[in-house]
Amino acid sequence: MSREVDVREITRLDDDGAMSRRIFQLRGNLTGHDPVANDDVAGLSAVAQSVISSVTGDEDPGAAHASRWRVESTVSPTSSGAVAVHFEQTFADIPVFQAGLTVRFSCAGLPVEVTGTVVGWSDQGPASPGIDPVDAVLVALKHLAEPDHVADDGLDSFGQPRKGVDIDPGSVGITISSAGDDAQRTTWVGLSPWSTTALVSLAWFDLGAMLVLGWQVSLDLPDAQGSFRLVVDSVAGEVLYSRSRVCEVVANAMVSAPNPDTAALLRAMPEPLSRYPVKTPSGGIDGFPRDDWITKDSTQGNCVSVTLDTGGEAVGSVVDGVIQFRPTSDEDIRRVAAQYFCSYAHDLFWLLGFKEGDGNFQLDDYDENGAEDQDRVNALVYPGKVKGTASMGPSVDGASPTLRMGLYVPTGRHTALDESVVIHEYTHGVVNRLVGGKTSTTALDAAQSAGMNEGWADYFACVVTGLNVVGSWVVNSSAGMRSNPYDQNYPSFYSDLAPSKPSAEEHDYGEIWCAALMEVDRRLGTEITAQLVLDALKLTPSNPTFLQARDAVLSALDDMATASGWTSGDAQLRMHEAWSAFARFGMGVLASSPASTTFVGVQPDFSVPSFSPSAYADSELEPYEPGGRQVGPTPGVSTWGPDRLDLFCSTSTGMLHTWHASDMPLGSVWESIDGATPTVGRRSGVAACSWEPGRIDAFIIGDDGTLHTLAHDVATGWGMWANLGGALDPGCSPAVASWAPGRLDVFAKGPAGELMHLWRDSATGWGRWESLDPFVGSRKLSSGLSATAPAPGRLVIAGLSVQGYPQVCDYDVWLGTWTRWNLAHTASPAAGDRPAPAITASIPHFLQSPSPTSRRPVDVDLYAIAPVDGTLQITHSHWSRSWDTTSRQHPAGNHRGLGVAAWSEKRLDLVVADELPSGDLTRIGRLVHQWTNSAAAPPQSETLDL
Ligand SMILES: [Zn+2]
Repeated sequence: MSREVDVREITRLDDDGAMSRRIFQLRGNLTGHDPVANDDVAGLSAVAQSVISSVTGDEDPGAAHASRWRVESTVSPTSSGAVAVHFEQTFADIPVFQAGLTVRFSCAGLPVEVTGTVVGWSDQGPASPGIDPVDAVLVALKHLAEPDHVADDGLDSFGQPRKGVDIDPGSVGITISSAGDDAQRTTWVGLSPWSTTALVSLAWFDLGAMLVLGWQVSLDLPDAQGSFRLVVDSVAGEVLYSRSRVCEVVANAMVSAPNPDTAALLRAMPEPLSRYPVKTPSGGIDGFPRDDWITKDSTQGNCVSVTLDTGGEAVGSVVDGVIQFRPTSDEDIRRVAAQYFCSYAHDLFWLLGFKEGDGNFQLDDYDENGAEDQDRVNALVYPGKVKGTASMGPSVDGASPTLRMGLYVPTGRHTALDESVVIHEYTHGVVNRLVGGKTSTTALDAAQSAGMNEGWADYFACVVTGLNVVGSWVVNSSAGMRSNPYDQNYPSFYSDLAPSKPSAEEHDYGEIWCAALMEVDRRLGTEITAQLVLDALKLTPSNPTFLQARDAVLSALDDMATASGWTSGDAQLRMHEAWSAFARFGMGVLASSPASTTFVGVQPDFSVPSFSPSAYADSELEPYEPGGRQVGPTPGVSTWGPDRLDLFCSTSTGMLHTWHASDMPLGSVWESIDGATPTVGRRSGVAACSWEPGRIDAFIIGDDGTLHTLAHDVATGWGMWANLGGALDPGCSPAVASWAPGRLDVFAKGPAGELMHLWRDSATGWGRWESLDPFVGSRKLSSGLSATAPAPGRLVIAGLSVQGYPQVCDYDVWLGTWTRWNLAHTASPAAGDRPAPAITASIPHFLQSPSPTSRRPVDVDLYAIAPVDGTLQITHSHWSRSWDTTSRQHPAGNHRGLGVAAWSEKRLDLVVADELPSGDLTRIGRLVHQWTNSAAAPPQSETLDL
């Protein structure tokens, strides 16, 4: 008695928990490896092997049942540069049927995922075959000629009698043409008079917890009757497994695409490469297109099977040796159109990189290891309506997803005939497989993620149809099924989703995401964008927020720039365009988002970063100067509470950051944030400010006179530089202060010496630059600025006048009044440039009482380089003019800037940047840190080496 096993049965067994075959997936937690270059085949294999050993390490290698893992195919680079190493499971050097694991590497060359199918067993049959390969082929041929269907009733899954093939096994000459001496005993067998061959090799086949040795037979029948793979029990001579590989069929079909508003044309199945919006290599792509859109002569292909919901496919007829579908009935027209649309979608996504190893939908995965067969799309055409007009159910790899298409009742039009709707639904299946891995079905459940699922589906529908609407034919409306077409005028923003509209659902949320992707597409072209969006799906974590998904697209673009060898200029331009597209919809560089489960709390931003954070910018960085660095002007000093001080310094090699915490002295660690430094931002000093514990915002003015900002959050690390615009003096440092959480006030010198102001708060984000000269008077500035918020709603700003005198002004937010510039010191000015004075309040505002009415008096400390002797001087309590010329002595020299902060009433930290002569070519700077823990105690001092 033969036993026919297909993967569907195996899946059921798996679900019962009684099965030895299990889907394996492990993401993350694979650390401890050095990065490997994606073309280092040996290195990748070695790391992958060690990962496999560690994740399957629960097996005792000495045990009788121990399996081994053999590299099966080495690397499969994606368009983004990520790679994978595939392993097959073996026992006694013989592969286990359809079992294997894949180790995926990130673009950075680190292993990030192990996925595949693992077989375990408790017992196994004899390890040597009882019959030879010729016997095995004969058993296979007899089975094909007269299938023994004891296990079922001889009917296929549509209730039709199974068709045998027309061969006479007794008349076939079976001769061994070559036989390997490896453990698998790989043997080529000639079949005469057919002039076809069979490939035979040993494989372990799992029958529940029992492993038996079988002959795996792959053979082609004559007269295009098909190609089959069988497993024959090598001892009992029974067929254990039998399945038709596709027979290759080329066909034509009359289809209206993208919908019946276009006359039906005879279209090729499969379509050639030139019909896809992807980069076309001059030599074509090996093995593309595969002639498996249909098998035999019906709407049954390797990637999709289209039937009526009650079963039954549409059948073509042979015309001039080619199958043609010229459907006439409504049902057939729908089935043929759906077959064409889904097959086109399959090949498009395959070209973009959704392949066998990624869990794409195919009946036969052509032995690509690490993938599950038997999961072509099961597309059902309903005569009436279906839930949601059309739908695609998620499924894990190895199980067919079901695509349902029905009638849209208000117009009487059928969704199977609208390509945009079919592609939309098909894309859901792709997104489900890619985001969070191919075995996860819950990676798109969160509100933001579910919304984007719709957006991705709409985007690819638009890519395929070339339209900027979805379902316009089905619903007979120019805007299609959505609120507006996805054109330049699409009216909504990311921030419109919070608070959520009472009636909003996934498709509303998805519109914003699709609108942004379409904007990227308009700016970068479909060829680049479709590839980016697909690449990004592979890089997107489970249940992403809009901003995480945005970052995946940008990351994919960064990878593409490197992989494609774009010039730095082209790369930066495209990165700018992509950012501009997202910023257009409120997903700018300073946007923030709550968890993906909600839209409440979304903070929009419409700004783009001031540079591209990528490797190709490295070449533009100035080389490191051994022996020291030139210190930029004013250092940025900030604190968010007792025992915490953050110091920023722009230097000749980029921006540096160090911090003091209770267990760490200032300057013991210098963190370079070069990689995120704007290439245009080397001139001014740094301003830094905390508005709550754990959060710092740093600012710098670039050569182009615009303000750049970078935020650091202890929870999420450094953000990205953003350009806040302005027309500022690039040689003078900005100033920043905060008097409430989320509130930042930035001040800078305009080119004519005016006082310029920009502010943000949590509710509105950044406003526009304004000149404060109408409020603070016409006294002009000759230096950069310093600012502090001594209390909530209170700001004090200091700078040097044109004559070189320190001057201050202040603002009371609650009264809305500014004081005019006041001179803080009237000593005679010195010649030459001098740094701006430094100013601070003695307690950060967030450590004070939040109530403006109960605010206690807070000292304001102002430091300046004394005009004559170069010493630092201090005044207290609102420029009382009682300068202290004795307690803050500092050697005379070329002082480039001062920074100051206080984390309590008694603690003051002052940092001075000095420029020292050193040789002819470079000048080396140093930072001197002074602090005091009591107004009465003498200050302590140290030099900070960079
Ligand atoms: Zn949908």
